[in-house]
Amino acid sequence: MTRRRWIADSWDEATASLAGTQAAHLIRVLRAQPGMEFDLVAGGRVFHSVIAAIAGDEVRFNLIAELEADPALPVTLLISVFKFDRMEWAIEKAAELGAQGIVPVIARRTEKHLAQAAAGRAERWRRIAVEASQQSRRSDVLHIADPLPLKSAIREEELALRLVLAEQERSTTLRHALSEALAASGDEAPAIRIASGPEGGWTAEEEAMLDAENWKAVSLGPRILRAETATIAAMAVTASLLE
Ligand code: SAH
Repeated sequence: MTRRRWIADSWDEATASLAGTQAAHLIRVLRAQPGMEFDLVAGGRVFHSVIAAIAGDEVRFNLIAELEADPALPVTLLISVFKFDRMEWAIEKAAELGAQGIVPVIARRTEKHLAQAAAGRAERWRRIAVEASQQSRRSDVLHIADPLPLKSAIREEELALRLVLAEQERSTTLRHALSEALAASGDEAPAIRIASGPEGGWTAEEEAMLDAENWKAVSLGPRILRAETATIAAMAVTASLLE
């Protein structure tokens, strides 16, 4: 039987609790009662749990047994911010496909009003990440970083394999670059960072900057994909090689 999975707001050795909107949903919609059983994710570990008590707006659980967890794939997507409805779709799908993190990026051609509003959207994106992570029965939550200018975002995590999606690239496919890097790295898969550009594409200066920071340009094929398609297709290709 698959039990519904929740991500705990707080926990200790033997108990955990849900608060806020998750607890409200559990209490009002699912009519939570002591004795009801769920799976709870606490600190990246998954537990078969039973409701011990409902106290005001909080649901308290006893943790019964730890279940095997399925860790996220070591993939961080640097997504140049695009229209928010499509951005939300991409976040949901990245969570389903097992990405570890998303760094929303402000690129040169990111639309001005989106760039200005991005910081204020991060909380909503995090809520979507929590919901999608739960729904896809992950044992952790897709992490959404605060939006960063491209220049700073591409300098983080120096040791990661750095791949930039570029529609002009003709010789190296994402699949090829990943296969080579995975074969060279042996047992331990390297951390992977994949950057995708805005609807208007990267500027020549950005391409030069990415190149100087050791980002390898890779292709997803000869067709021009929309930014959200490119991001999710890249995540699917990567997941298929890692799993
Ligand atoms: N402005 C460009 C398209 C940009 S598409 C044009 O109309 O010609 C937005 C982003 O998606 C790109 O910056 C790139 O990161 C990614 N992308 C789209 N198609 C791609 C492909 N075939 N291969 C690799 N990346 C692609």
